[in-house]
Amino acid sequence: MIQNTLFIIKPDAVCENQVGKIVDIILKNGFKITAMKMARMSRKRASEFYAEHKGKSFYKPLVEFMSSNPVIVMVLRKENAVENLRKIVGATSPAKAERGTIRKRFARDGRHNVVHASDSPRSAKREISFFFSKDEIFLWKYRNYPVVKMS
Ligand code: GDP
Ligand code: MG
Repeated sequence: MIQNTLFIIKPDAVCENQVGKIVDIILKNGFKITAMKMARMSRKRASEFYAEHKGKSFYKPLVEFMSSNPVIVMVLRKENAVENLRKIVGATSPAKAERGTIRKRFARDGRHNVVHASDSPRSAKREISFFFSKDEIFLWKYRNYPVVKMS
C-alpha cells in the first residue's frame, strides 16, 4: 500500500551539514518528497510533538534539543513508507542501530540521533498534519513535466 510518512532532519544533522547526504539516501531508497520545509520549533511545539513521551527522563532534554535550532521536515511517499523508512533510519540509539542505517552512519548518541520517522500510519497522519496543510503537499510524477522550446 502506498503510504505517506513524516520525516524530520533534526537540529544536529542540520548544524553538521549532513542534510544533503541524508536527502540523497532518502531519494536513492525510492521515497518521493511530496512536502518539505525548514522550521524552528518552539519549546511548546516540540513538547506537543513529543507529548507521548511526557514524564520520561529524556523528555525535557529532547524538547530542548529539538527546539535548539531549525529542523527540516518532509512528507515522504512510497509503498509501505512508514515501515520502510523506520528500517533505513535504524534503532533510536546508534549503538543498537544496524550497519548502513542513517542513525548508525550519522548519529552521535541516543538523543542526538539526526532524524525522526513516524512509527505507525496513525502517527504519520497526526505528524503530517502537525506540520503541513493539504495545500503544502504535492503529488508529482517522476519525469513528467512539459519541455518547452527555448525562444
Ligand atoms: P524514535 O521513534 O526511534 O525516534 O524513538 P522514541 O520515539 O522512543 O524517542 C523519541 C526521541 O527521544 C528519540 O529519537 C531520541 O531523540 C530521544 N530519546 C529516546 N530515548 C532516549 C533515551 O533513552 N535517552 C535519550 N537521551 N534520548 C532518548
Ligand atoms: Mg518515536
